Amino acid sequence: MSVGRELKKLGMKAAYHYLDRDPETNMPKLMEWVDKFVRDDVLTVQRDVFRKIIAEKDSNWYRLLASLWQDIDDDVRKVLFENLVINANALAAIQARESTVKYQCNIPWVIALDMGREGDGEILSFDDLDGIIEQAKDLGTFMFLLTGREPLVRKEEVVALCNKHTDCQFMAFTDGLLIDEDFAVQALRVKNFIPAIRVYAAADDKKLDDVFAILRTKKLPYGEYCMYDKSNAERFAREAFFDDAIERGAKFCWFFSSLAESEDQVYQQIKKYRESKTLLTINFCKDEAMTGGCIAGKYYCSVSTDGRIKPCSFLPCSGMNLKENSLLAAYRSDCFMEYYHCDLKCRGVFE
Ligand code: SF4
Repeated sequence: MSVGRELKKLGMKAAYHYLDRDPETNMPKLMEWVDKFVRDDVLTVQRDVFRKIIAEKDSNWYRLLASLWQDIDDDVRKVLFENLVINANALAAIQARESTVKYQCNIPWVIALDMGREGDGEILSFDDLDGIIEQAKDLGTFMFLLTGREPLVRKEEVVALCNKHTDCQFMAFTDGLLIDEDFAVQALRVKNFIPAIRVYAAADDKKLDDVFAILRTKKLPYGEYCMYDKSNAERFAREAFFDDAIERGAKFCWFFSSLAESEDQVYQQIKKYRESKTLLTINFCKDEAMTGGCIAGKYYCSVSTDGRIKPCSFLPCSGMNLKENSLLAAYRSDCFMEYYHCDLKCRGVFE
């Protein structure tokens, strides 16, 4: 890391230390510090949104932010701030922009890594995953999603990746059933791991009660995710679904659906409850106002369990294999460059 970047990082860490002493009083000053260390033209939309959040103390967003000081372990919250706010956003945005200018290609904000499992054929080894993360950090990506049929079947390696890349934030999409006391202790130790647990808005969710209790007791941050289509959308559109998630302690919820916006009643509810509920909701991929449209290649890309990288996992292109090619070569391949040269509409499953 350059001296300038190191100084910025130190400045922002000091700002967090100050904020942590008295969040209620110092929260409004947070953006002043960010403005001091980050150029005006970086993360402008996100900074405006955040400014609005901290200016309105009665808003659901302010309450959600404030709840992190009640519900989350102090050291984990500190690492979350350092990795997510400083490394993966404030500093990564500058570094990724420099890489984009230098290499004339997109540098995605987040990479989804399919962890695979026994029976999936040749899967990415720990060293393969580690190598991809190292290359990604060199280019300006510090946020990683761990995906696959169940990424926590490789939980020792997940912990080892978190342990090795202490400057990155990891989030696993999991059924949650492999989260136990021991794993929670490990997550508390590494501090940079967040589970997003699949829920069904049905009786099935009862089996997760113990898991949610462990995470709450350990004061670990976590969220949920759900997948729906026409047949079960009604379940996720209920206000009770949002309230239950908040009551269980979730801080965020990802929604995945291939329904068109016009027939997606859940998305309408997501937009409505964003005005009142203390839950960060993310819709893949209808949040155009927040992302500016399709995020493939630009903000997100996906690596399959055998090492093939694509701008989006739903795209039909085969993608380069990272076992034989560098990450930069893949970003500069035709498959990715199409998304660099123009704003393409979704050509994946959501077509
Ligand atoms: S290609 Fe489609 S599914 Fe993939 S990120 Fe773009 S809009 Fe979303």
